[in-house]
Amino acid sequence: MDFAFDNSFHADMEGFFAPGEAVQPLEPKLLAFNQALADRLGLTVADVEDEKLASIFSGHELPAGADPLAFAYAGHQFGHFSSQLGDGRALLIGEMLAPDGARFDLQLKGAGPTAFSRNGDGKAAIGPVLREYLVSEAMAAMGVRTTRSLAAVATGDRVQRERSHPGAVLTRVASSHIRVGTFQFFAAHFGADHVIQLSDYTVRRHFPELVETANPHLALLDRVIGLQCELVARWMGVGFIHGVMNTDNVAVSGETLDYGPCAFMDRFAVNTVFSSIDANGRYAYGRQPQITHWNMARYAEAMLPAIHAVNPADVDAAKALVDAIPARFRAIWLDEMRTKLGLGRPHKDDEQLIDSLFGELEQHAVDFTSFFRALAQLLRGEGDMLESLLPDAEAMAPWIADWWSQLEREAIAPLERADAMDAVNPFYIPRNHLVEAALVAAEAGDMAPWTKLLEVVQNPFVERAEWGAFAQPAPIDAAPYKTFCGT
Ligand code: AMP
Ligand code: MG
Repeated sequence: MDFAFDNSFHADMEGFFAPGEAVQPLEPKLLAFNQALADRLGLTVADVEDEKLASIFSGHELPAGADPLAFAYAGHQFGHFSSQLGDGRALLIGEMLAPDGARFDLQLKGAGPTAFSRNGDGKAAIGPVLREYLVSEAMAAMGVRTTRSLAAVATGDRVQRERSHPGAVLTRVASSHIRVGTFQFFAAHFGADHVIQLSDYTVRRHFPELVETANPHLALLDRVIGLQCELVARWMGVGFIHGVMNTDNVAVSGETLDYGPCAFMDRFAVNTVFSSIDANGRYAYGRQPQITHWNMARYAEAMLPAIHAVNPADVDAAKALVDAIPARFRAIWLDEMRTKLGLGRPHKDDEQLIDSLFGELEQHAVDFTSFFRALAQLLRGEGDMLESLLPDAEAMAPWIADWWSQLEREAIAPLERADAMDAVNPFYIPRNHLVEAALVAAEAGDMAPWTKLLEVVQNPFVERAEWGAFAQPAPIDAAPYKTFCGT
């Protein structure tokens, strides 16, 4: 197995990380391996035995060319600045170059303590590892930018949380692990030179086309803001709630990062919160755009020393970029919603239609995912699905009539439009009650429900008769779903 490592952060960014090593797991056992992702990375594992994969992807055995390290970072957590965070339970083993030249970080999550573990054990329990694997692969299949999951390995150890759990290690693949919090760390402790060095590295690695711009740091800020707005608009479109949008969990690459207490909404409610640690609803579904604005303001602050060093006048430009975020986000979000609704070209009446939708969905407690599929069914002349989602035939009738008349502005055949909608609106998402049941079974040693659910959410758009149960929300009288952070 040849990893084609090319460890640029290790080589170019001395002082921005701490070297690390994985703890020897007791008895590593492969739980899941992502063959399609291995192919994407150019990792040939056809003749490699599961024992060998388990050994490598638990940190038991380091592949040739690995340079393990833990990144330093800081971050605003629930609005409060922590100047010392860093990879406490994650270890970069190296950067891989895929056959097409794309660069990826390979990181082990849960392989033991690092220089940044503080009081933590550096380990991960099987539930959160399998949750991140499942949800990140579902997001990738839905076309949402995200870190990926290459492998999950049980360590044979126990991990103590509220109670004792089997331990596991996740191998995470990211285009990089540079976070807003990485910039904040070096802005807070070291000042302009380090921010400039990190920004230069980030631009070279992610956005080489910006190297020649007048002020690459300002251009980077602009690009990161754009990517975050696009990302969060996509989250909103699939009903995803990240749950811990702290600045240390925001990747500058625009990928969804750090799946903790995240979950998908079933019935629409704008204030939905699943995380047990988010008592005030700071990171509720409907607050994610405002939080993005807030997080990007923190990013701009960290970038200011670099932006100023190139041209002091650009500080005003940076401020203008931050001030423009609400309008910028709304434009991107409206596009997302238009696509979901099959609306095509923007029109002045769209906004009213889109804005009024959410009140309707909330009033009638409509399953968010199924609703958009039911609209496409309506275009095919099938009203049963929509009827089953609504309390009575009159509910939403005026909204549907309005939507229908707006569709008629563009001469697109209904069936063609319905197919286009189905290609962007998932039929299968990781439903909370199914995820929970799969994790409970996995913890008890039965991987079958998890493996099945993974197969379903990796194929989100095409309805299959035999997968009917996977599209149903939790029963209406089920207890409110709660998610927990501790991985
Ligand atoms: P999170 O809220 O999961 O994004 O993590 C916040 C910070 O806590 C990061 O710096 C993590 O590396 C650290 N952390 C979380 N869990 C552990 C653990 N089990 N051991 C060491 N550090 C941890
Ligand atoms: Mg984190």
